[in-house]
Amino acid sequence: MKQLIDKLYTTNRLDTDEYLHILNNIDADTTQYLFEKARLVSMQHFGTDIYTRGLIEFTNYCKNNCYYCGIGAANTNADRYRLDLEDILSCCETGYELGFRTYVLQGGEDKHYSDDDIVEIITRIKQGYPDCAITLSVGEKSYASYQKFFNAGADRYLLRHETANEEHYKKLHPLNLSLTNRKQCLYDLKEIGFQVGTGFMVGSPYQTMENIVEDLLFIKEFNPHMVGIGPFIPHSETKFAKEAAGSLELTLLLIAVIRLMLPKALIPATTALGTINSQGREKGILAGANVVMPNLSPVSVRKKYSLYDNKICTGEEAAECRFCLSNRMQKIGYNLVVDRGDYKF
Ligand code: SAH
Repeated sequence: MKQLIDKLYTTNRLDTDEYLHILNNIDADTTQYLFEKARLVSMQHFGTDIYTRGLIEFTNYCKNNCYYCGIGAANTNADRYRLDLEDILSCCETGYELGFRTYVLQGGEDKHYSDDDIVEIITRIKQGYPDCAITLSVGEKSYASYQKFFNAGADRYLLRHETANEEHYKKLHPLNLSLTNRKQCLYDLKEIGFQVGTGFMVGSPYQTMENIVEDLLFIKEFNPHMVGIGPFIPHSETKFAKEAAGSLELTLLLIAVIRLMLPKALIPATTALGTINSQGREKGILAGANVVMPNLSPVSVRKKYSLYDNKICTGEEAAECRFCLSNRMQKIGYNLVVDRGDYKF
């Protein structure tokens, strides 16, 4: 087993059977060995620096109906909101003072915002904060729309592929959504010149270890700049309300494997990881992650951006979140830095 980890460490890739062997058979000792290797690689590229992204959840309206997600259109109990341009700029101002140099604009697929609206948001943020990076996470759009966003100054785009297996994709999404289109979006975004992030949920309903290996192979082939993975967590108002959450252990294992596959990738220790375990984000960093994404949304809307149940940090101001995370990172020997935290090509 250790030899396989060494092989992944030195060659940055394994084949299907080798990944499966690790996922199915790794023991506690070897897991620690894997984490050490992953930390070593992170340390080589980022030292003890942890990049931060200020997450602005600007709309919870969504036209889609992903079965796992609490803000899907089918959830008629969701309390919907939108932030207007001034609200968003005020989040940016708070964020800038706190040391954020990347803003992530995330939302449901909300038809209320035209491409021109998004372009205006990007333009105004860039005018006010020219030294900051903008990451968009607003779902599947056309090549032309992505191109407009890029031309307006957006730097990065997050679009998790969710699962690289067609059959599994169909079990998580209604028929109008397809893995083919989602992947096409990813290829379009990369071609246009975005720093692109993809990823998947760990322990989503019906997911098998074989599916996860397909995710790893897809990620290796696509070679994204960022990889976001976090545990699936059920939401009470969805079809998957009664499903089990993904596990901390498997998520950490996969963070470490992905760090060894893509040494320079930007990998967040996600809020979902912090939700299933009180030390989840720290453990994520110690398994090779190098990014955290605290919430910059106004406290008044935080509970409403409910993708899954029991999301942490919905009651705290942005400053408290930054301070809390900064402390948490220092306790494990890392430091939040004031930096855009771009991918190092
Ligand atoms: N509308 C955008 C943003 C989606 S929310 C898009 O389509 O990309 C960001 C991510 O949250 C999703 O890609 C999904 O992987 C994750 N997510 C959604 N519901 C979740 C749940 N119940 N548990 C854990 N993660 C979830």
